[in-house]
Amino acid sequence: MRLSRYFVPVLKENPAEAQIVSHRLMLRAGLIKQATAGIYSWLPLGFKVLRRLENIIHEEQQSAGHQAIQMPILQSADLWRESGRYDDYGQEMLRMKDRHDRDLLFTPTAEELVTDIFRSHITSYKDLPLTLYQIQWKFRDEIRPRFGVMRGREFYMKDGYNFDLTKQDALHSYNRHLVSYLKTYERMGLKAIPMRADSGPIGGEDTHEFLVLAETGESEVFYDSKVTDLNFGDRKIDYFDHSACQSVLDEFTSLYARTDETHEPSLFEKIPQERQCKARGIEVGQIFYFGTKYSEAMGATVTDANGQDTPVHMGSHGIGVSRLVGAIIEANHDEKGIIWPEGVTPFHCGLVNLKQGDPEADAACENIYQNLVKAGLEPLYDDRTERAGGKFATMDLIGLPWRITVGPRGLKNGVVELTSRSSGISQELTPESTINKLISIYR
Ligand code: ATP
Ligand code: MG
Repeated sequence: MRLSRYFVPVLKENPAEAQIVSHRLMLRAGLIKQATAGIYSWLPLGFKVLRRLENIIHEEQQSAGHQAIQMPILQSADLWRESGRYDDYGQEMLRMKDRHDRDLLFTPTAEELVTDIFRSHITSYKDLPLTLYQIQWKFRDEIRPRFGVMRGREFYMKDGYNFDLTKQDALHSYNRHLVSYLKTYERMGLKAIPMRADSGPIGGEDTHEFLVLAETGESEVFYDSKVTDLNFGDRKIDYFDHSACQSVLDEFTSLYARTDETHEPSLFEKIPQERQCKARGIEVGQIFYFGTKYSEAMGATVTDANGQDTPVHMGSHGIGVSRLVGAIIEANHDEKGIIWPEGVTPFHCGLVNLKQGDPEADAACENIYQNLVKAGLEPLYDDRTERAGGKFATMDLIGLPWRITVGPRGLKNGVVELTSRSSGISQELTPESTINKLISIYR
C-alpha cells in the first residue's frame, strides 16, 4: 500500500475526549472514528488490525476442533423469555419492536439462540461433543461507555458455546478452551493471565477471566509474580488429549491470580511477600461452565447410550475482539505512538523514501516494495513528498514493527536502513538482505 493513496486520517493534536493512551493513539493514528457514544466506525488501519485478530482467533478455534457459525445480530425476545433472562438481563439489553409489535433485541450474547439451534437438530449423544462459535457484533447499553473501544456499547466479540453429554465432558471442553485462549492471546503478543472469577449474569459454576496487565485496566488484580513468567511457547497441543490439556491448565492456574471480586487475602498471605503483586488489568476474555441451566430451561436434550433423555451440559466462552485492539496498545506503546506486536500488525513494515522524486531513491524503493509484495508481505510505502521528520513521526505513531529507510546517501554505499520500532535500533543492510531478513521474521 502507498501512503499517498491510503486513508489514514492522522491527528496532530491529542483529542481532548480521550482519557487513556490507547484511545488517544487509536484516534491519533486514524484507526477509529466515534459515530456516537460507545459506537465506532473502524477506518482502514484499525479494521486491518481487527481482521488480523479475527484470523488468529479462527485459526486457534479451529485447531481446537470448534466450528464457526454466524448468528443474527437481532434476536426475538421469545427465546429469552424461555430461559427467563428477558426480565433478568436489565437495562444493558437494547430492546425494540418491529412493525408487527413483536419484541426484538440486539444481541448482548447468544446462549439462547445457539441452544435453539442445538435442540432443533441434535438428538443423540453420538453427535457430541460439539462447540459452535461466532465472531459477531454485540450490543450492551453500558451505563458509562468510555475509554474508546475498551468499553463500547457496540463491540466485536468471539462467542463460543459447547455442548457435552456429561459434566466431565463439559469440563474437558472448558479446559480445551482455556488452553486455546492462552495460545490465542500469546499469538497476539499479549500476556493474558487466567484468573478465577465470578460468573455474573451468565450464571454457572466454573469460570476464568483472562486479564492483560495495564495501569489503565478497570479491574484490580492480585497475583503471584511467578504467573507472569509462564509462557505457552511453541508447544504443540493435542486438544483432545485430556491429560495434556489438564497439565497445561494446571501449570497456568495453580499459581494465585484473582480479580478484586474473588480475591481471598487469606490465601494470598501464603505466598512469599516479595511475590505478592497488586496491579490493574483489562479483561480480554472469559470462559464459563454453567451445566444444564439453559438446556433444562429450553429443552435441549439428547438420548444417552441407554436411550435415556438427558439435558446437555454447556459452557460459553468470549473474547473481546474490539477491546483487544485497545488492550494491545495499552501494553505496547511509547511516547511516540503504537508499537504493534508482529503477530497483529496492520502492515509488516514501513518503507520511507527520504527523497521522493529522486530517480535513484524512487527506483530503490519501488524495487524493495515489489519484492516484499512478491514474498507475500504487506509493506506500507510512504511515497509522499514530505520532509523526513514528518515521515518518521507518522511511522512511529502508526507503529509498524519495522521501518526501512531509503535515501541517496545510503544508496551510494549500496545500503538502506532497517529499524526496529520497539528497540529503536537501526542497522545498515543491502536492500536484498533487508528483504530476506523481513521474510525470515514473518515466516
Ligand atoms: P466487563 O466485566 O468488562 O463488563 P463482561 O464480563 O460483562 O465484561 P463477558 O460477557 O465476559 O463480558 O464478554 C466477553 C468479553 O467481551 C469480555 O471479556 C470483554 O473482553 C468483552 N467485552 C464485554 N463488554 C464489553 C464492552 N462493553 N466493550 C468492549 N468489550 C467488551
Ligand atoms: Mg466477563
